[in-house]
Amino acid sequence: MSFELQPLPYAPEALEPHISARTMEFHYGRHHQTYADNLNALIKGTPFESMDLEEIIRASAGKPETAAIFNNAAQVYNHSFFWRSMRPNGGGEPKAELKARLEKDFGSVEKFKEEFKAAAVSQFGSGWAWLVEDAGRLKIVKTANADTPIAHGMKPLLTIDVWEHAYYLDYQNRRAAFVDAWLQHLINW
Ligand code: MN
Repeated sequence: MSFELQPLPYAPEALEPHISARTMEFHYGRHHQTYADNLNALIKGTPFESMDLEEIIRASAGKPETAAIFNNAAQVYNHSFFWRSMRPNGGGEPKAELKARLEKDFGSVEKFKEEFKAAAVSQFGSGWAWLVEDAGRLKIVKTANADTPIAHGMKPLLTIDVWEHAYYLDYQNRRAAFVDAWLQHLINW
């Protein structure tokens, strides 16, 4: 099969002023699209062509000979997950069920936000911070480059992209300011 990007769940300017339309146009229209185009070219005529995206990620993970397929497939997946992890007029309080689980596993919603921000800011170089479910518990993990929790048997719930292309046009080097704005105004509980 050939992978096409799902449309963004909102207009490119809908996340302003926290993420600009220009960032979204590059991030979705160029970066995300390029991962999909690369993946389609790489799997053409291979056994990966008959797999769905998650199958490709699991089958290519951890193998040097399929690293390029893994990187592009995981980045297609991670970005689709990221677009849905935020929304216009996001932020605020999580819904009751998630709030109770965050309180159980992190102590409070505020404590969760502090730990999530620390993971996002401390990821060295390119990568992602995630809220995941792992063996029935909620956890925060960070992944480098294209790596993704579904390659490690964890279920992702929320993610933030901390590659520089996610924030450089709007925040330059100030990753912490981007993460603060994201948690306060964009997170889609
Ligand atoms: Mn990105």
